[in-house]
Amino acid sequence: MPARAGIQIERTQWTPALAGVTTNFLIALRTMDLDFDRQHIWHPYSSLIDPPPVYPVARAEGVRLYLEDGRSLIDGMSSWWCTLHGYNVPELNRAMREQMEKMSHVMFGGLTHEPAIELSKKLVEITPAPLQRVFLADSGSVSVEVSIKMALQYWQSQGRPEKNRLLALRNGYHGDTFGAMATCDPVTGMHHLFASHLTQHLFAPAPKPNFDEPCSDEDVAELRQLVEENRNQLAAVILEPIVQGAGGMRFYSPEYLKRVRALCDEYDLLLIADEIATGFGRSGKLFACEHAGISPDILTLGKALTGGTMTMAATLCTDRVADGICRGEAGVFMHGPTFMGNPLACAVSSASIELLLSSPWQERVSRIEQQLRQELAPLKDADDVADVRALGAIGVVEMKQPVNMMQVQEALIDRGVWLRPFGKLVYAMPPYVTSEEDLRQLTGAMVEVLGNL
Ligand SMILES: *Cc1c(COP(=O)(O)O)cnc(C)c1O
Repeated sequence: MPARAGIQIERTQWTPALAGVTTNFLIALRTMDLDFDRQHIWHPYSSLIDPPPVYPVARAEGVRLYLEDGRSLIDGMSSWWCTLHGYNVPELNRAMREQMEKMSHVMFGGLTHEPAIELSKKLVEITPAPLQRVFLADSGSVSVEVSIKMALQYWQSQGRPEKNRLLALRNGYHGDTFGAMATCDPVTGMHHLFASHLTQHLFAPAPKPNFDEPCSDEDVAELRQLVEENRNQLAAVILEPIVQGAGGMRFYSPEYLKRVRALCDEYDLLLIADEIATGFGRSGKLFACEHAGISPDILTLGKALTGGTMTMAATLCTDRVADGICRGEAGVFMHGPTFMGNPLACAVSSASIELLLSSPWQERVSRIEQQLRQELAPLKDADDVADVRALGAIGVVEMKQPVNMMQVQEALIDRGVWLRPFGKLVYAMPPYVTSEEDLRQLTGAMVEVLGNL
């Protein structure tokens, strides 16, 4: 209980005599008020009645989180897919500092600025060619809302307002706001409590063929039937390309994605690719759609966009979608958040993309994939383990039963590792700059803890 001990020292023994102790220790002593946190602050998906422990982070550097009791943890989560380059990155800090001194924010209605133009140029350049128009949103879920509104407005402007439903995949996850929730798996998507308030969309079975397997007619038969039967009501298909994230951490066949694209073309549906988790190299390609060589009509980006420094997201679409929307009844696209195009977030996003593209990211990600695959392989034989898989810088151990998150998390912390298990899934998506040695410590901890539950 070193954390508790530290807090008690602060409250009972704070004397000038302690002034000689190292600065770090002093910072640790003037600690955070964890009681206040427990009583007043919501954490993601948390209870305020007897909440589980939260670990106070004093600072973060490279791939390490430094807890205020002095322990350090190798971050295997990249703060939920975000921190590609690790923490406290000089290039990103500089971009934010320089931008801050010009302007941190200015409204985007009627005004524009260099950081937004620079970032949008980069996004148009690095995403699949047909994606030419950029909407800068403020979080992943909002960019999904924007993508849905784009699809609905597009069909309205085509004189087809009845095409207002979406087809999504089971095990999919697209965010926590109402429009996004309605496209998440109704069971695993964490939103069934709100079912009566959600638009009833259509759901195809989760893709069956794994990443390295072919995809047969039969594998898309039910999807095809749903599309055929509902073609006149369907506006778009929305999916996470190749990697289904929060809804199951599954990697599916690029051929499946190709077939979905072909179906959308055949039946004139838009395809929305949600690359909020997979974007910026995580799956081994800069964008996961590249595994299948396809381009969506609408693309959502978020999470790693700012290199994990700030909240920011983007929705890109084709000329066809943008022109369609703007020739419609409204004449404009009906969305515009207050913090749209935030200059600080745009500047650091550009810096992050530059840093990524000038780094040997492909080699790093493929080295991480090899290492995850090799070093997690021993778990395949463990009694409680159902499956072990890796793609890009993502390693997944799927257990047969849901794990006791607190217990597993604590055991991993004892071994110097930060992971956040979820249901049956214990997974790692480390920063691309993670060294071989640090990754070995991470996988070693997973093998030790999960092999002996
Ligand atoms: C995280 C995530 C979202 C939601 O993004 P937020 O920034 O949490 O709103 C949407 N889609 C996918 C695939 C995600 O991984």
